[in-house]
Amino acid sequence: RTVIELDTVRKAYPDGTVAVEGLSFSVREHEVLALVGPSGCGKSTTLRMVNRLVEPTSGRILLDGEDVTATDPVALRRRIGYVIQNVGLFPHRTVEANIATVPGLLGWDRRRTRARVSELLDLVGLPAATYAKRYPHELSGGERQRIGVARALATDPPVLLMDEPFGAVDPEFRRHLQTEFQRIQRETGTTVILVTHDIDEAARLSDRITVLSRGGKLEQVASPLAVLAH
Ligand code: ADP
Ligand code: ADP
Repeated sequence: RTVIELDTVRKAYPDGTVAVEGLSFSVREHEVLALVGPSGCGKSTTLRMVNRLVEPTSGRILLDGEDVTATDPVALRRRIGYVIQNVGLFPHRTVEANIATVPGLLGWDRRRTRARVSELLDLVGLPAATYAKRYPHELSGGERQRIGVARALATDPPVLLMDEPFGAVDPEFRRHLQTEFQRIQRETGTTVILVTHDIDEAARLSDRITVLSRGGKLEQVASPLAVLAH
């Protein structure tokens, strides 16, 4: 089953920059698709279009067969978890409140939310007793990144979009978090697009690698085994 489908997508920003050109690919259910390529080749723009943070100039993006530009944004937030590097935590909200963002949108009660926050903090190795009441500025870069992952997983979304999710994490903890990611992904069967500039990370974590070239064009689709053999 195809979960995400891009059909001849083009994105030109208002200043004329063409970020993505004629891009078509699809992601099957339970698959981890890596999107790799040099800086500026349109990887983030692609994720942002899938998440409806940016509208394509032309072409279509379908989620479960439905055009995302015609989908209610709250319904999209429930179906798509989004993890980005460095940014994205609300600075004036505690860790707990950050993780509870989407549960809040969906009207979960306090008890259910509390329990889920606590479970997620354990999952990313930051126990609630220490971390729940902290603000983002009271965390290290790697800790913030882990909170970003916890927040994206809050409502068990069937789709996860990850933009350089391990970039800000200390090297020794990165492996641990990658392994955790693999475990969670296999357990939950989440469908993932993983953006990374690290081809080894892509090869280790994905089922299929899509390589973009400058100008946001599809260069090739590679198998992780072929990349690892190099
Ligand atoms: P990547 O994630 O692969 O680094 P991006 O999708 O961030 O690439 O950017 C693709 C291209 O679009 C780059 O040339 C970038 O400068 C440009 N770009 C990104 N966002 C904007 C914007 N809001 N306005 C104009 N150009 C943008
Ligand atoms: P890093 O080496 O990743 O930059 P930091 O030096 O920022 O880490 O933080 C080290 C530890 O101190 C982390 O466990 C972080 O949670 C904690 N910490 C950082 N800033 C604060 C703060 N303002 N209040 C409480 N704890 C903090």
